[in-house]
Amino acid sequence: MREYVVTMLTGGELTSFRRQLLAWFRQFQRDLPWRRRKDPYAIWLSEIMLQQTRVAAVIPYYERFLARFPDVRALAEAPQEEVLRLWSGLGYYSRARNLQKAAQQIVALHSGEFPQDEESILALPGIGSYTGAAILSIAFGAKHAVLDGNVARVLARLGTIRGDLRESRRWQSLQRTAGDLLDPQSPGAWNQAMMELGAMVCTPRAPQCRVCPAAKFCRARQSGDPESFPEKRKKPEAVQIVLAAAVLHTPRGQTLLLSPPGKKTETKPAADDIATLVSRLWHFPTVAIRKDALAELRNFLAGVLSLKNGTFHLQPLAKVRHAVTYRNVTVLSFRIAVAKIPHIRGAKSIRLEDFAKVPVSNLTRKIARAALQKTEAAEQQ
Ligand code: SF4
Repeated sequence: MREYVVTMLTGGELTSFRRQLLAWFRQFQRDLPWRRRKDPYAIWLSEIMLQQTRVAAVIPYYERFLARFPDVRALAEAPQEEVLRLWSGLGYYSRARNLQKAAQQIVALHSGEFPQDEESILALPGIGSYTGAAILSIAFGAKHAVLDGNVARVLARLGTIRGDLRESRRWQSLQRTAGDLLDPQSPGAWNQAMMELGAMVCTPRAPQCRVCPAAKFCRARQSGDPESFPEKRKKPEAVQIVLAAAVLHTPRGQTLLLSPPGKKTETKPAADDIATLVSRLWHFPTVAIRKDALAELRNFLAGVLSLKNGTFHLQPLAKVRHAVTYRNVTVLSFRIAVAKIPHIRGAKSIRLEDFAKVPVSNLTRKIARAALQKTEAAEQQ
């Protein structure tokens, strides 16, 4: 399968392809904040933030994060809670935890200087072959080709490669092909150009072949149906999960958040594992529902908060819906009026309006928003 792309682009054709793609990139690349910097810390941060996340969503987070943690040392020394707070809303919080762990490792093992060799970079938590290649090529000019979903799609179309691109052997073959195409004179610009082509022109749907700098070399375009490459992957069926959450509310507007659940165990957590669903961050008292939301939430509150049945009223809030990977989560949340917040070890009492000051997941944020809307509506009556 490798031969498709490699044999198509050799010698003069390969030179011409590289020249055209790089010229296109120089002229049409987007002005993105991380492209204005060449230091490995900034490149690394942008690559981690961009994983599974859209560019437009990343930009404000990236700028805030860099302003607060301008270098590896500042990140290594910060309280983890603050790192997570600045990441709050971006999702996939293990990225932030690993980022800080890696910064601490760089300080401890490399005197705070970002390592420049592949082995040391790949030994850092959260850095895999894609991120490692991006840092090595963009920050240090090393000849490492990146392969992500965008680049893989471009390669599949250039060479009309069929089958599941993520299948291990096929992916390795694509990685070698990406390496063969890499421009040895400008590996950093080349990698960015390939990714930009996939993001802006050779998009999953309706690729813009008419303005594509690779059009002359592309087999999928010649086939007349470029969109049929790569073949669609079968998505796993979504699992439906129902949770119930309690939003305590005092007359002074205070509510209760439970502390971030501890580390995951070695075994894979269940699909409705609360710690996973709240991204191991501060969260409302929440329970996974099997049959009867009210009864199960009441039991849970009696156990965790010592709120005895019959001593409180559950006032329903708007349903919250949240999709995370293969899970469709519905949260039945309830407001509970209490005179004061019960004292629970490790829990936090905060004002609902102060959610931005605490690291919470998007799921928790949605529940807080539903509670705030209810409070505002009650105050307007
Ligand atoms: S010609 Fe079309 S299908 Fe081929 S790489 Fe360009 S945009 Fe993608």
